[in-house]
Amino acid sequence: MTDLIKHSPNSPILLTASLHVDEARKAISNLVNEILQESCKLNHASDIESIPLDQAINRILAEDLLSPIDVPAADNSAMDGFALNGDCLSESENIMTLKVVGTAYAGKPYEGKIAQGECLKIMTGALMPHGCDTVIPQELTKSADDSIVSLKQNQVKRGENRRLRGEDLTRDKAAITAGRLLRPSDLGLAASLGIAKLQVRRKLKVAILSSGDELRPLGQALDAGSIYDSNRYSLTGLLNRLNLEIIDCGIVRDDPASLKAAFLEAASKADVLISSGGVSVGEVDFTKQIMQELGDVGFWKIAMRPGRPMAFGMLKPAQPSGRKTLFFGLPGNPVAVMVTFYQFVRSALLQLNGANQTEPPLTQAISEVAIRKKPGRTEFQRAILGRGIDGKPTVKLTGSQGAGILRSMSEANCFVILPHDQGNVAEGEWVDVALFDGLL
Ligand code: AMP
Ligand code: MG
Repeated sequence: MTDLIKHSPNSPILLTASLHVDEARKAISNLVNEILQESCKLNHASDIESIPLDQAINRILAEDLLSPIDVPAADNSAMDGFALNGDCLSESENIMTLKVVGTAYAGKPYEGKIAQGECLKIMTGALMPHGCDTVIPQELTKSADDSIVSLKQNQVKRGENRRLRGEDLTRDKAAITAGRLLRPSDLGLAASLGIAKLQVRRKLKVAILSSGDELRPLGQALDAGSIYDSNRYSLTGLLNRLNLEIIDCGIVRDDPASLKAAFLEAASKADVLISSGGVSVGEVDFTKQIMQELGDVGFWKIAMRPGRPMAFGMLKPAQPSGRKTLFFGLPGNPVAVMVTFYQFVRSALLQLNGANQTEPPLTQAISEVAIRKKPGRTEFQRAILGRGIDGKPTVKLTGSQGAGILRSMSEANCFVILPHDQGNVAEGEWVDVALFDGLL
C-alpha cells in the first residue's frame, strides 16, 4: 500500500473503496521504514542519548545492555532452611538427624566447612557454604532445639532450592536487547547490574492540533453550536504513556491560511504531526488542497468502526537536510481518535523510534452478550473485562457505542476487537480483547 503513496508523489489521493485495517497498517509501516532509511542516510547520530535510570521509563533502549557481572554472582539459597551436601539424600523415607553447625545470612556468609552428618541453617539469598549443594526448606524439617534438625531423606533432590551463579544473567551477554520499550522491570534489572545510565533513543517530537470552527479551549464559555476541544487532552494522555515530547499546536480554525500555518509550524519542529478533525467528507477537499502543497498525504476510508476517514502520509521537511514529518489526520470524533491512535499511530511511533515490539498484546474473553456486527469492517467496541462465576474471562460492552460517546471509552477497560470478516457474535462466544492498561 505504500505504492499508493509512492505512485502519487505530491498528489494526495481520495480512495473511494474502503481499505482493510491490515492493509492500512502495512502501508503505514512501509512508510515509516522509508523515513527511517532516509534518516539513516542523513546520519542522525544525535538520535541516541544517555540518561539516568530513573528517567528511562517508557523510553526505547538504543543499544543492547550487556551485563557486566554474573547474576547471581555466586550460588545462594532460594529458601529459608538448612543447607547440606546432597550425598546424604536418598529415595528412602527414613528420617535422618543432622547437627546444625551455624547460620548463613544474606550478606553474611558462613566461612566454615560442613562435614558429613552436619548442616547449616541458611536464609534466602545467603551464599551456599563450601561443601553444600542443596537446601531443605524449613517447613520440611523438625528440630527439638537449635543444634539438631531431622528430616526425611527423600523430601528434596540434590541441587534443589539453590540459585546457581549466572542462572539469571551471564556476564557480557545482553540482559536487555536494543529496541525494548523500557518497563519498570527493566529499570530494576539494569539496577541489579549496577548500571546507572542507559543509552536510549531521543524522545520523538510529536505535534498535536485540533481542527474545527466549533472547538473552544477550556476556560472559555460555550456559545451556540460550539463544543470543548477534548481530543487534544485524550491525545496528550495517550502520548504521555510513551514518554514523548509533545508540541501542542492548539485549536486551528477551518480556514486554509490558519491550517497551512499550523502544518508548516509542525513540519519544522516535529517528527510526527497528529491532527484530529477535518478529514471527513466535505472537509477533505479543503485539507487535501493544503496537503498537496506541503507533502504527500493520502485520504483514506478505512473499513473500521469507529474511525473510518483518516489521512496519512508525510510533510516535506522545512530544511532540505531535515527529516520528513509523519502525518496522521485522525477523524474528529473523540472515540474514533482513540481507536485510530491505538490501531495505527501507537505502533508507528514505536517503529519510528526503533522499538522492536510495536504491536499491543491481545487476549480473549467470552462475550456476555450477543453483539451485532456486519462483515466487511473491523470493529472496536468498548467493554469491561471481568471474570464469570466459573472463573473464565468475560467481557461486557459499555453502553451506547457511538463514535462520539467518550463515556463508553472512559468506563471501559478494553476493546472487544471484531475482525473484518466476522459477522454477529452470539452470547457466550470467545472474542479478541485488547486491554487499555498501560496503552490507552
Ligand atoms: P470532523 O471529523 O471534523 O467532521 O468531526 C467529527 C465530529 O467530531 C464532530 O461532531 C466534531 O464536532 C467532533 N470533533 C472534532 N474535533 C473535536 C475535538 N477536538 N474535540 C471534541 N470533538 C471534536
Ligand atoms: Mg470538523
